[in-house]
Amino acid sequence: MAKSEFELTWQDIEIGAAVTEPGSAAAYKTGDWKSQRPTYDFSRCLKCGICYVFCPEGCVRQNQKGHFEANPYYCKGCGICAYECPTRVIVMREEEEK
Ligand code: SF4
Ligand code: SF4
Repeated sequence: MAKSEFELTWQDIEIGAAVTEPGSAAAYKTGDWKSQRPTYDFSRCLKCGICYVFCPEGCVRQNQKGHFEANPYYCKGCGICAYECPTRVIVMREEEEK
């Protein structure tokens, strides 16, 4: 049975400000707070990769058809990819509550 907070000693408490396990922020869905998401009309996509290059989050990847697409779990909704896309493939839309 777990100890109550009154029974804990200093040896039971994790060391503060210490990384105790290896890893990165990839383990967390860092983009789930965004208010907008990129949507795509791939019929106009040139597969130029400009959205991939400009995304400050590094969350754009090429899919199996060669189009570039954001991972919604890491995209922050900044809209830079939509602004930079030369053929206006990307339109930012409001996130919807689920
Ligand atoms: S909206 Fe911003 S974070 Fe999301 S894919 Fe586009 S450039 Fe990256
Ligand atoms: S910038 Fe636009 S045209 Fe170029 S790969 Fe991205 S979505 Fe396609």
